Amino acid sequence: MIACTASVTEVAERAAAVRRRIEAAGADPTAVTLVAVTKGFDRSAVDLALAAGLVDMGENYAQELLAKVDPAKVDAAKADPSARWHAIGRLQRNKVRALAPHVALWQSVDRPELGAEIARRAPGASVLVQVNVSDEPQKGGCRPEATAGLVGALAAEGLAVRGLMAVAADGGPGAARPGFRRLRRLADDLGVVERSMGMSADLEAAVAEGATMVRVGTALFGPRAERGGMRK
Ligand SMILES: *Cc1c(COP(=O)(O)O)cnc(C)c1O
Repeated sequence: MIACTASVTEVAERAAAVRRRIEAAGADPTAVTLVAVTKGFDRSAVDLALAAGLVDMGENYAQELLAKVDPAKVDAAKADPSARWHAIGRLQRNKVRALAPHVALWQSVDRPELGAEIARRAPGASVLVQVNVSDEPQKGGCRPEATAGLVGALAAEGLAVRGLMAVAADGGPGAARPGFRRLRRLADDLGVVERSMGMSADLEAAVAEGATMVRVGTALFGPRAERGGMRK
């Protein structure tokens, strides 16, 4: 993880620019949740985002999320309420327990066993089902055909299934858009509200297809340290 060297003003301006992009794509920017993805950056990025008025933070890796929780703010419930934390990455079951006090929305639930563990450690928690809308083997998410069954299984565990999430196909907004459309249709068919889709490079396509939540890293914080120390 590296420090984010942007200023609060810069991050606030970039957030405003993201909201203008959302508006230009045809949505009311106040109706689309902007999740600030701080992966690759240390706590400095969270503090900048909070100071810039953002509250929703997305983390891919359990270790990074736990490292960024502010110990000074951990309350009696053993949670850090300084931000609304979203777990957005591939998740192993054995990480759920440590994350449970902090995570407000589990966005990447892709199998019933993971849901059962979340229900055990955080009863009634809010979740999204991640769907592999592009059928790419390297992408996370359940098969589109399995979505309805998984939503039902999670609800039966007592979890609050708020909606669906997807990471689009690589290859730019044009390649991403059919997947976004597919996620929208699935969510409509299942009667769930949230559609978490769209990142820095393709958020217009996602918003045009009905995103209610976009997950944005690079456009807010700049290039990040990739795992293993490489920079992208
Ligand atoms: C990294 C990541 C993002 C943000 O990507 P940017 O291109 O930096 O905006 C969003 N969602 C997921 C699941 C990610 O892993």
